Amino acid sequence: MARARIYCDYNAGAPVRPEACEAVMQALALGGNPSSVHQAGRRAKALIEGARETVAAALGARSDNIIFTSGATEALHLALRAARAAGVQRFIFSAIEHDALAEGAAHVWPGADVLPVTPDGVVDLAALDALLAQAPGALVAVMLANNETGAIQPIADVARRVREAGGLLLVDAAQAVGRLPVDLQALDAAYLIVSSHKIGGPPGAGALALGPGAPFQAPASGGGQERGRRPGTENVPAISGFAAAIAAATRGLSSEPARLSFLRDALEAELGNAAIFANRVPRVCNTSLFAVAGLSAETALIGLDLEGVALSSGAACSSGKVRGSRVLAAMGVERALAQCALRASFGWASTEDDAARLLAALATVRTRARPILEGAA
Ligand code: PLP
Repeated sequence: MARARIYCDYNAGAPVRPEACEAVMQALALGGNPSSVHQAGRRAKALIEGARETVAAALGARSDNIIFTSGATEALHLALRAARAAGVQRFIFSAIEHDALAEGAAHVWPGADVLPVTPDGVVDLAALDALLAQAPGALVAVMLANNETGAIQPIADVARRVREAGGLLLVDAAQAVGRLPVDLQALDAAYLIVSSHKIGGPPGAGALALGPGAPFQAPASGGGQERGRRPGTENVPAISGFAAAIAAATRGLSSEPARLSFLRDALEAELGNAAIFANRVPRVCNTSLFAVAGLSAETALIGLDLEGVALSSGAACSSGKVRGSRVLAAMGVERALAQCALRASFGWASTEDDAARLLAALATVRTRARPILEGAA
């Protein structure tokens, strides 16, 4: 009998949780356009507003400050455009922000400043001081947890500096929800971004949460949905599933971080002479980015896939391409080693057996590659 495949790529996209699946199915069965005045419309509207309350409660935000989007990418772009349209002049973003923001910035905010990170993959606070001195009042984007290394960023220190400089903080928490407490007020963020499919909700939903008084000028016009801030008919099934997933992820905060860091630590303890990135700083519980020198990520990923194990090389978000990691480059990791970087990320359905099977598959791949590795030594 074929063995079940093992999925260790939650940071790319988590399997949909049963409660999220159920919520999606119910919303699909209900149908209706939330803007319609008839009963079907009113029911769909009630689902959206219920979901808004749930997402707001999970993020410590006001429900009227939650704007549903199609995911984190759209939420990031919405925040950038809305801040720009509201008159914010300068933009600073960390060198390890996701492509969703880094690439978007190139279009929305050409000439933005890039905040460097230390070799441990955390933002350089002295460099932030220097940038803010040149650009007081800037919008500053620093993610809460990095999608590749898992490194948790010193948001409290960043937020204090940004506030003192009269600026605004944008926090991408797509990889933090369910792994760390995420609270808009505590983060002191003007804009907070989350995504459904990273936490076991369906793809196609996410949210931008606005902090008190965050400047926002709607960059697009159309129907009046989302109070005119994000026009377009709402994706009720995806939003319902997203709300069910964020509620489950938040409930799990009491036990999941300890359970997942146990799996991650068990994996890392057996990696032998692999380099483990960002392991000297606090990381989210579920993520390990490591490299076996000489074993290219491409070779390893194919070998692991043949063994039935799904892993990723650094950032996997762009159409299955395996390419150099911007994050590792920003950390000053040598290119040859960066090309060997593999990311294991666990989540709600991961088990100890998954971690053990991943290790066994990796051992097989390393054995097969031994002639190459020995040749390279
Ligand atoms: N931000 C981070 C940190 C991510 O990891 C990702 C996806 O990998 C995104 C944003 C983009 O999210 P979405 O797929 O919801 O647009």
